[in-house]
Amino acid sequence: MAGSEAAWQAAEAGAQVTIHEMRPGVETFAHRTGSLAEMVCSNSFRSDDDEQNAVGLLHWEMRAAGSLIMDMADAHRLPAGGALAVDRDPFAEAVTARLTAHPNIEISHDEVTALPDDGPAIIATGPLTSGKLAQAIAAETGQDALAFFDAIAPIVYADTIDMTVAWRQSRYDKGETEEERTAYINCPMTKAEYEAFIDALLAADKTEFKPGETASYFDGCLPIEVMAERGRETLRHGPMKPVGLTNPHKPDEKAHAVVQLRRDNALGTLYNIVGFQTKMRYGAQTDVFRMIPGLQDASFARLGGIHRNTFLNAPTLLDGEMRLRSKPHIRFAGQITGVEGYVESAAMGLLAGRMAAAELRGDRLAPVPQVTAMGALIHHITGGAEARTFQPMNVNFGLFPPVDGLKGGRRGRKDRYKAYTDRAKAAWTDWLAGPARQAAE
Ligand SMILES: Cc1cc2nc3c(=O)[nH]c(=O)nc-3n(C[C@H](O)[C@H](O)[C@H](O)COP(=O)(O)OP(=O)(O)OC[C@H]3O[C@@H](n4cnc5c(N)ncnc54)[C@H](O)[C@@H]3O)c2cc1C
Repeated sequence: MAGSEAAWQAAEAGAQVTIHEMRPGVETFAHRTGSLAEMVCSNSFRSDDDEQNAVGLLHWEMRAAGSLIMDMADAHRLPAGGALAVDRDPFAEAVTARLTAHPNIEISHDEVTALPDDGPAIIATGPLTSGKLAQAIAAETGQDALAFFDAIAPIVYADTIDMTVAWRQSRYDKGETEEERTAYINCPMTKAEYEAFIDALLAADKTEFKPGETASYFDGCLPIEVMAERGRETLRHGPMKPVGLTNPHKPDEKAHAVVQLRRDNALGTLYNIVGFQTKMRYGAQTDVFRMIPGLQDASFARLGGIHRNTFLNAPTLLDGEMRLRSKPHIRFAGQITGVEGYVESAAMGLLAGRMAAAELRGDRLAPVPQVTAMGALIHHITGGAEARTFQPMNVNFGLFPPVDGLKGGRRGRKDRYKAYTDRAKAAWTDWLAGPARQAAE
């Protein structure tokens, strides 16, 4: 994600770029193809609401900056209510094709095993950075790259879902078109079914951590069994919440819990179970998931899994332009800098690409205004965050400087978010228009 966007932005700014991508020769456990910009788990870029949502605002800013990732995501958009869901394979193939066709870009399929001697270089090797490069980074930084664990959600074949039990509806019927309003498949549970499901989840055979590994998860991606361990009701208030949905098979009966599945490809043949990341062992997963009404005969295109996530302690290691303090000809971008998510990773690639291209010209970009989503993220990772407790971060309004004179708390939220996004759009538009350059020091 980050590497593709960085290469595109730098090349569009006139730089000659070489992308080094180790796949398909060297694989990661999560990628399946040799394409650039492969989405490894969910197929969602999350909310596309650029007035009330920080990631929607980030979409807006990236589109305004000519983002390749956003352009191709829009071109391969799937119906998903207010979210931007993407048809993953054609999306990745289209990104790869555009980069391959660019006259300023060369693509070399090789593994980088050492830090580059010359720059400007951008390391955007992501949460699954290969072992050799991770070692080289750790040797240079003097700190072990931090590690934590995420889990991936299972994918079900749509024609194995029992639609006499399940139904199609987006929560609160959200969406402009009928297709969007029916983008999700919902599986209802009674109280007894929910309780039995929680029991099975708690008892299921799970992948254990190796000695010395710390089981610390990013909160937005908690495995369901970890959520269930936190309390029997936790899932009912999280991914299994029954609100905003009416079961047409039993319109008078309120479901105790609902499992949602989101379309995973344009054909509509695959659906992922929303929020159902898991570290249950494969055998246990099929047994437990088939307890969900409507999924009793489900076949799985992919089961859930667990993975390592590598990221730097960016606030101490990187300067304000994401350059390694000890080797400033090297920039980092993407998830390895401690942002979290496809969009945030691509966004940091966008900035890194522009900054590197400016450097080649002997220029320096003006600081990105902190009131923008881009600025909020880069400020957070390069100094705003507490270094001691640094953890990967999604973009959110908590990273934005407050707008003065507005009501706090829940009641003023809508106005506040609108004020944040209005302010951000104006500042981002100005920044893009320039004068965005400062003379290089
Ligand atoms: C299993 C898993 C599930 C995730 N699920 C989600 C999700 O559902 N939603 C979401 O928003 N985010 C998710 N993320 C987090 C993150 O947003 C994505 O991983 C995102 O793709 C990160 O973008 P990136 O550009 O930093 O890294 P990547 O997109 O992973 O790109 C890094 C690239 O570098 C290559 N590479 C690695 N080491 C080397 C080397 N030494 N030499 C050459 N090439 C190398 C890799 O092959 C890869 O193509 C997930 C992460 C993982 C690992």
